[in-house]
Amino acid sequence: MRGITFGLLATACIAASFGNAGEIVIAERGKRAKYTIVLPADAGASVKYAAEELRDYVRQMTGVELPVAVNGAINVRKAIFIAPDAPRLPSLVSRPLPNDDDSFRIVAKPPHIYVIGGKRGVLYGVYELLETYGGVGWFSSWRTVVPKRNRFAVPNNLDDAQSPAFAMRSTSWWDVRAHSPTNVQNVAFAAHMRLNGDRNIPRGEAGEKYGGAPYFFGGGLGACHTFNSLLPPQKHFKEHPEWYSEVNGKRTDVRSQLCLTNPDVLRMVTSNVLERIRKDPGATFYGVSQNDCRGYCTCANCAAVDAEEESHAGTMVRFVNAVAEAVEKEFPGKFIETLAYQYTRKPPKITKLRHNVIPCLCTIECEFNKPLGVSTNAANVSFESDIKGWAEQTQNLYLWDYTTNFRNYLHMLPNVYTLGPNLKFFRDNGVKFMFEQGCGQGRHADFAELKTWLIAKFEWNPDQPVKPLLDRFFKGYYGAAAPFVRQYFEEAQALGQAEGIKHWGIYDPAESAKVPDDFLVRATNLWAKAAAAVKGNPVLSYNVRMGAASPLYTIAVRSSANIRTWVTRHPERFDWAGARRILLELKDCQRVARNVRWIENSKSLKVRNRTWDRFLAMKEMPQLADSAIVEVENLADSLNDSQGRFVNDKTAIGGRAVRLPPTHYAWTLRLDTGNIAYDPGVKYHLRIHVKVDKKKGGSGEAFWAGVYDDVRRKSCGSISVKAEKADDGWKWYDVITWTPEPGQHFWFGPGRFKGEESTVHNGIYVDALEISRCE
Ligand SMILES: [Zn+2]
Repeated sequence: MRGITFGLLATACIAASFGNAGEIVIAERGKRAKYTIVLPADAGASVKYAAEELRDYVRQMTGVELPVAVNGAINVRKAIFIAPDAPRLPSLVSRPLPNDDDSFRIVAKPPHIYVIGGKRGVLYGVYELLETYGGVGWFSSWRTVVPKRNRFAVPNNLDDAQSPAFAMRSTSWWDVRAHSPTNVQNVAFAAHMRLNGDRNIPRGEAGEKYGGAPYFFGGGLGACHTFNSLLPPQKHFKEHPEWYSEVNGKRTDVRSQLCLTNPDVLRMVTSNVLERIRKDPGATFYGVSQNDCRGYCTCANCAAVDAEEESHAGTMVRFVNAVAEAVEKEFPGKFIETLAYQYTRKPPKITKLRHNVIPCLCTIECEFNKPLGVSTNAANVSFESDIKGWAEQTQNLYLWDYTTNFRNYLHMLPNVYTLGPNLKFFRDNGVKFMFEQGCGQGRHADFAELKTWLIAKFEWNPDQPVKPLLDRFFKGYYGAAAPFVRQYFEEAQALGQAEGIKHWGIYDPAESAKVPDDFLVRATNLWAKAAAAVKGNPVLSYNVRMGAASPLYTIAVRSSANIRTWVTRHPERFDWAGARRILLELKDCQRVARNVRWIENSKSLKVRNRTWDRFLAMKEMPQLADSAIVEVENLADSLNDSQGRFVNDKTAIGGRAVRLPPTHYAWTLRLDTGNIAYDPGVKYHLRIHVKVDKKKGGSGEAFWAGVYDDVRRKSCGSISVKAEKADDGWKWYDVITWTPEPGQHFWFGPGRFKGEESTVHNGIYVDALEISRCE
């Protein structure tokens, strides 16, 4: 595509008038077309599409349809040349474009106008023309504002050359995702936003119109967590436990990694990677990266390397370098991508990355209410030192950043004012491939559309001021509701700057007091005013309604909709009917929008849905009492089959129990304080009804249980019951007396052990939890 030039320059006649002094009028309502859009004869799909887009939007703006012509076919008096390279105009050559596919330059050289650039750059140049000079706004895939104009004009000295801050500009927010090759609406919007990541432009033919997908992962080896698919433990662990991590002196395939110093592991993984590249050689990147857990290998060899390298990235980089070396022999120019994530985030001290290895550095630990470089939070400060370390090693730094609350997609994450500064920080620290993870699993998370839009704007140019962008977005997306939504927005963001806010991360519980209840009340009022302001406008009403769902969700999480057990003397504190109304509205939002998802994790999502369905199925509020029995069904929402199963037991309360096998000691049973109707400031007592199936002669921990505070991230108290102290039959065991608060949860697990399984019991049975008011 490079090097195309116009065969003949169009005839340059001086026209009678250029409109106002200093302007070139491209189209004037009611008059015939003055300008022709001119393409090179061999224009590719994206250049043709750019011409169509320009023609269509100018027509929508002014009612004037500009003809589209192929250069040389006709003589054109006034042309907008759209070309993937500079035509032979000496004055243009003095400011060459960077040699990439995304940059563009728009030049007015009366009477002509030139939009030149790379194969995506031409399209982006056309969008710049329409946005900046025509006032067109693409605010979401369903909300485009095209102002009606009497004239569409540009300055006659226009010369605007732009190059993006990042080679790859990518985000996974739902509305710009290439959900499928036929999904035109979202992909077209992604192109309007100048996004070019693997999630934003479809691979192959379908992406050509948008300039082609320049970056994508191949061979089924995505950007993250590929160890398990490269060397599946279900296939190999039995025969080769030594290929997997040694954790606490024992090889394990449960939440573990590979033994990276084992030469057989290297051999197996390398051959698998090569096989996959041979099958799919067209991609840019192939991911060879750790599973999404800790569990790194601590065998003597691995531990020695990591000690020497002063980071667990030591074994990782040595291993991935070796894979990449083998790959290069057969596939020079292909990149092996690996994660610098959690335990591998710190770069190794000695080993340097091979030139065909790309580290993907992740910000998961950071606080997001304050920007990097400003925040004094320890997680952010240590991240800053890590990014500098990686940037010293490579020109190909890939950055994975997080922009939503993954535990509650609709709950507030007041990070909007950090998006720009963080992207500036990443750009200034050498990031080339930029990925902003958002809610890609459903629509309308907390300020989903605004964040999507701002991220794209700042990935292109993080130096632009935020305020004019916000003004534009709010007016364009919310219309007459903008002042009310803006007020909600500013108050919400300010919460992130409030005194005493230490770390606002991506997994904050919706119960967290960082978002005060009284703020939610104000929020509801503001959204109601917003709704009234756009009444009668279906698109704006939809935008407001889906925005309002965000605080509503947080209210729902804190409402009596999650209550499973009632131990209160103050029923008036629980707005039963209100909770029902809110849930019905949220459910209806899900129905209308077709896909709104509460939580990233499928298991937790199932629990939330089950809880809310249970609430909606209840016809009336249960009777109040000082003490209540919670049957084990209510504690076992997140239980999976390997951790325990329901069994019928005539001796159990309700005739049913959960049997937890001796092969794990994870916290498997759970009840959140949000599931309990309790009186604040009052002490409560928990007892758990358990039967221990003891092993003969076994001694040691049979089970453990307690209450954990998710907000403060610490225990409120726990018990560890030894087999020696346990009865053979059912028995009530005291767990804790404490004052419940929001954001805490009761947990229960079988006793801890070393080796394959517990030597203490054959199984732990639980049928009920009792909660009693103490005063
Ligand atoms: Zn090892």
